[in-house]
Amino acid sequence: MRIPLSAPDITEAEIQAVSGVLRSSHLSLGPKLEEFEEGLADYIGVSDAIAVNSGTSALHLCIRAFGIGKGDEIIVPSFAFIAVANAARYEEATPVFADIDPETLNLDSRSIEARITPRTRAILVVHTFGCPADLGAIREIARRHGLYLIEDACEAIGAEYEGKKVGSFGDVGVFGFYPNKQITTGEGGAVVTKNAAIADSVRKLRNQGRDYTKGWFQHWELGYNYRISELNCALGIEQLKRIDPILKRREEIAQTYNRHLSSNRNLRLPPLSVPLRKISWFAYVVRLETRFGEAQRDWIVQEMSRCGIGMGRYFAPIHLQPIYKREGISELYPVTEASASRAIALPFFNRIQEQEIEEVCEKLTDLVESSTQPCRRHQTA
Ligand SMILES: *Cc1c(COP(=O)(O)O)cnc(C)c1O
Repeated sequence: MRIPLSAPDITEAEIQAVSGVLRSSHLSLGPKLEEFEEGLADYIGVSDAIAVNSGTSALHLCIRAFGIGKGDEIIVPSFAFIAVANAARYEEATPVFADIDPETLNLDSRSIEARITPRTRAILVVHTFGCPADLGAIREIARRHGLYLIEDACEAIGAEYEGKKVGSFGDVGVFGFYPNKQITTGEGGAVVTKNAAIADSVRKLRNQGRDYTKGWFQHWELGYNYRISELNCALGIEQLKRIDPILKRREEIAQTYNRHLSSNRNLRLPPLSVPLRKISWFAYVVRLETRFGEAQRDWIVQEMSRCGIGMGRYFAPIHLQPIYKREGISELYPVTEASASRAIALPFFNRIQEQEIEEVCEKLTDLVESSTQPCRRHQTA
């Protein structure tokens, strides 16, 4: 793609930091892991961070550490990355989908309440596209029903709710550092928590069930190899040092998009600010107005990609994925389905140029206009 959907932003200093690890003899479980974990825990405002090889692994270990399993239910959004449901299934628990709020695209607290049963053990809330969910209400629901609260903050590092960083509100918070995230380690993720027992359990599970204080050849429980290498951590340390300017730059990009698109009456733009929250921009996702359908959305995405502009169709609802699909449940998720079928993620990365943003907006505006007039489509192709 000439203008990709996302692109990592790696500096010379970061390349040097990773090379430095390669020149050392310590490639795993070394000083970089410790430094990255301490830096992350400090930044989020929690006592413990445990870095792992992906955000998905981090989600899995949280569910495992809580002892959630067969017969248990976890409430998750369907409008989310599939890992939130898969992580429950890895432990034979049942993901129970709830619908979302049409403004923020985050879990709707009324829909959460409606899906609670005697088997519910946890609420897994996602801060979608970097906008914090309604943590006040959701934390209250979790408390009232005695449920664990898992915050999936993989798309929201640095976002705040009432002045505190997301990830620090739940019993655990989860981050992901895939290359399209605000900061990256290549591949990687982390669990953050203020609960020392959970931190200890996640640390053991990450490394084959070993207890750090009791030797390498003692395995206390069924663990995994979810370790992250020193190379990844060295990159993460450097990226975390730059997080403030990175988030500032991303906010500017979102504002620029909003400026160029605000007069377009065919599009619904993401809110630039929501009361009580500070957004950490992961992606810039617009929705076509309700008079448009999924076929028009797909055609627009396809035409943009023919011009070398990368667009994303996220998220496809999890309850409609082949491995989750059940008949007759669609009526439970009207907002999820209406939003997902009209959503378009625009190119969004730190180094995008003003002139590239303008080109994307002009092209998008033209295509949306012509998608309403099928006979003229060929002229824009
Ligand atoms: C990126 C992401 C993850 C983690 O993804 P990995 O590829 O496993 O690191 C988890 N949840 C959400 C909502 C995400 O966007």
